[in-house]
Amino acid sequence: DVHIGILALQGAFAEHQVMLKKVPSKRKIVIILVRTQDDLASCNALIIPGGESTTIALLARLAGILEPLREFAKKKPIWGTCAGAILLASAIENPKKGGQELLSGMSVTVARNGWGSQVAPLEVEGLRESERPFHGIFIRAPVVTAIHTTPSDPPIVVISRISTSLLPSSQTIVSPDEDDTDPRDPRTIVALRQGKHLLTSFHPELTKDNRFHEYFVTECVFPSLLS
Ligand code: GLN
Repeated sequence: DVHIGILALQGAFAEHQVMLKKVPSKRKIVIILVRTQDDLASCNALIIPGGESTTIALLARLAGILEPLREFAKKKPIWGTCAGAILLASAIENPKKGGQELLSGMSVTVARNGWGSQVAPLEVEGLRESERPFHGIFIRAPVVTAIHTTPSDPPIVVISRISTSLLPSSQTIVSPDEDDTDPRDPRTIVALRQGKHLLTSFHPELTKDNRFHEYFVTECVFPSLLS
């Protein structure tokens, strides 16, 4: 059996559970709602849901699993959605006053609340039936503002970008006379992978489409069991 945990301290963990249950898999997937160090220790992989990143981090500290989560991120796959994506990052441009704890699982810098409330059809590389757009739901989601891999880090693989014309006005491209579709502006990145980890700034768990959950299981979790 493969044990996939969902961090269940705050946020949309129940929604992830519903979606994960529907993933077709040759191997039995056991879902663990993670609230303690023991829960975490039994997992082969983890999903961190959307919600509120500082609240999740605070509750994780109170539960004594903040450090174990950092250790987990060094070894096993984590998928962070929205607030979970913030936690996975290694730097944040606008932390909450008083500071904000991160897991530093991925070599990206994010800015909180960069997106408003919006939906956007997304093209995602590697998703099953990728010609069918994925309905991206953004709720005050983080924006990726920089990528800072070192030569010893696994490379970042961008799997989905949003059109720059959909960037919220606070995120307007600095040089508007440039080509509107500059593919390398990090702020257009809405889904990326680094090694075994997956980051989405939007909320696949709030749709009825579980292709992202399937993607995490087949592209991140299963391969990590072999290594
Ligand atoms: N803005 C939230 C945060 O800072 C994330 C929002 C979300 O998960 N929908 O954690």
